[in-house]
Amino acid sequence: MFKTRFAPSPTGDLHIGGLRTALFAYLFAKKNHGEFVLRIEDTDQTRYKEGSVDSILQGLFWAGINHDGEITYQSKRTEIYQKYAKELINNGHAYYCFCSAETLDEMRKEQEVKKQAPMYDRRCLNLSNEEIAKKLQAGEPYVIRLKIPAGQTKLTDLIRGQIEIDNANIDDQVLIKSDGFPTYHLANVVDDHEMNITHVIRAEEWLPSTPKHLILYQMFSWTPPEFAHLSMILAPDKSKLSKRHGATSVMEFKNLGYLPEAVVNYIALLGWNPGSDKEIFSLENLEYEFSLDRVQKAGAIFDIEKLNWFNGHYIRQKSLDELTDLCLPYLTICHPERSATKWSEAEGSRVYLSKIVALEQERLKKLSDIKEATEYFFTEPIYEKELLQWRKADLNDAKNKLEFLLTELQKVPNENFTRSALEQLIKGLIEAEKLDTGAVLWPMRVALSGRKNSPGPFELAEVLGKEKSLGRIKNAIKII
Ligand code: GLU
Repeated sequence: MFKTRFAPSPTGDLHIGGLRTALFAYLFAKKNHGEFVLRIEDTDQTRYKEGSVDSILQGLFWAGINHDGEITYQSKRTEIYQKYAKELINNGHAYYCFCSAETLDEMRKEQEVKKQAPMYDRRCLNLSNEEIAKKLQAGEPYVIRLKIPAGQTKLTDLIRGQIEIDNANIDDQVLIKSDGFPTYHLANVVDDHEMNITHVIRAEEWLPSTPKHLILYQMFSWTPPEFAHLSMILAPDKSKLSKRHGATSVMEFKNLGYLPEAVVNYIALLGWNPGSDKEIFSLENLEYEFSLDRVQKAGAIFDIEKLNWFNGHYIRQKSLDELTDLCLPYLTICHPERSATKWSEAEGSRVYLSKIVALEQERLKKLSDIKEATEYFFTEPIYEKELLQWRKADLNDAKNKLEFLLTELQKVPNENFTRSALEQLIKGLIEAEKLDTGAVLWPMRVALSGRKNSPGPFELAEVLGKEKSLGRIKNAIKII
């Protein structure tokens, strides 16, 4: 059975690139009816950041990437790594190193002067057993290093193909640090082996570590898993995607009002080619269609406009009820501190709020846009006089038309203040009076919204209701 894992280090929030790594590992497992597990690689105490495990778990949960079984925490497995490191020492594949930080520093400086690559010079490899025992007994701090064997290491990466490395270029890696914790290399290999991981799918940045890992598998006489290294996600300027390009953490995308369906769909296509023109994929579709063969070697460019397009698509797929729920945290009315206006009960009602949301459903790109887009429902518009003027007419004409509308709309009973009834009425009047449509509808729409762009005047009038609509038309007339 195939088994993959996502193995993040809790050094910060879950990044969009991390989510994609998790997604690909998850999809590969699901596609092959295998298992996908989660392992927290928390052995580096210096890089640990409080709260990051929660952020990782929240991000995965939000995206619907569920892991199988229990979560493995490496920090709880120190003894296991110690045991394996000792085994390597006993077999002559690893050794104690007592060199202090200063000694290593000097070594590096000397090598720099001699223009040599910085490498541990193996001075502790030749310590006698008695010397070692004495130092250990005296409590001297030590690390355990892997003795890299001579030769070549070959890697067949499922995405990148054959890679060959000369072992002479690999430093004797530290396996156990002086604090007793394992390094990433040892813990990663031990766990992938013990957890029966068949496919290691991870980011490209780990590629240089893989030959070291393969040597460890060889020293333990274990069969290594298959490896697939995913290319980086790049910003449009082809640099590494980072904070300066906008949101990068999964929770930031969530808070901006991106839907998990959209993010998952979009990042699946960042580096994976479905082999057709099809673009819309649910997580379930992806579980069925994903394949590593169609994951590309080149870096994938993150295009926020494309993500917005997917998000708009999934927003339009929502039922009005669901979308209203999703929009509530962003609506001005739910943040009364944003405006001095007091809301009436009707304005706060669910029915009213969903009518407002309905007006924007077609246009919304992200949920947070709803705030700006609908603010004028909750605060009286402040008019720019000139905006009320239809481009082919003057302000005086705008005033006449608004007065005409006021008279006609006053006659409409409350229950007829609906989009279709109003449209029929006003369009009929325009025709009967031979008026210019724009000259009537433009000032009407601007009077109702205060905006250059907004939904149409009849929809607005229906949602605002008779009293508010007439009030706004009166206010607009007053300022002309
Ligand atoms: N702990 C590594 C990270 O934070 C995992 C690398 C791997 O998957 O082997 O990305």
